[in-house]
Amino acid sequence: MEITFTGKRALVTGAGKGIGRATALALARGGAEVVAVTRTQADLDTLVHECPSIKPVCVDLADWDATEHALKDVGPIDLLVNNAGCARLQSFLEITQDSFDMSFNVNVKAALHVAQIVARGMKARGGGGSILNISSQASHRAFKDHAVYCATKGALDMLTKVMALELAPYQIRVNSVNPTVVLTDMAKIGWSDPVKANAMISRIPMGKFAEVEDVVHAILFLLCDKSAMTNGAFLPIDGGFLAS
Ligand code: NDP
Repeated sequence: MEITFTGKRALVTGAGKGIGRATALALARGGAEVVAVTRTQADLDTLVHECPSIKPVCVDLADWDATEHALKDVGPIDLLVNNAGCARLQSFLEITQDSFDMSFNVNVKAALHVAQIVARGMKARGGGGSILNISSQASHRAFKDHAVYCATKGALDMLTKVMALELAPYQIRVNSVNPTVVLTDMAKIGWSDPVKANAMISRIPMGKFAEVEDVVHAILFLLCDKSAMTNGAFLPIDGGFLAS
């Protein structure tokens, strides 16, 4: 199955590191014109050095007004990957207002806002589009110290479904991927301890964490026209964890 994005414009949030960076590069390699959005300029500098066709946008997506301003001239977008996310691990009794607000601002509110900006353009142009929200297995299972993170991803899954319902008349599809642990910078914070990691791996039927490429391949499939009738779906990339 050949997947090509020639002639498409894609926007990837959280494109500075990890899954978002690999997705931006894969889309560019597949022929898309890519807008990479993240908040650390140094990451954008190395990304553009690696792939000069990528258009960088530096903004803190937790800031609604700054996001509106940064994306106002972004131009037509056919494919959106809402990938930016944060995980602040705290035991339930120690969760602070600040970490709750920050997590919901980035993991849920920014995804909604960027999708609004992009989908308004898709609707006006009438050519449809595809939106991918990067959720997690944590939307469906409880993990110790992950109360806020789990809640944001649960909210994101429901947002995906309602967006799919409301945007389908404009031929805009909205889906999510829900990975298990991928050892990016984010996951290293929670899963570097071998005792914790092995306990998690023992619950994954395939006996291993996911690789960045496992997630990227699923993202590319759900973005492209090969999945033209898939809308409102969540796709676990979890080696069978949620099935077990
Ligand atoms: P990383 O921490 O490696 O990368 C996250 C990227 O998002 C970074 O470039 C980061 O920039 C950016 N970002 C975070 N907050 C903001 C913000 N406020 N404004 C703009 N950019 C921001 O994470 P992953 O690649 O691991 O995670 C990507 C997505 O995948 C997240 O939504 C995560 O929840 C999800 N996921 C990850 C899993 C894992 O095990 N890794 C498992 C399941 C889901 P900066 O570094 O400058 O903060």
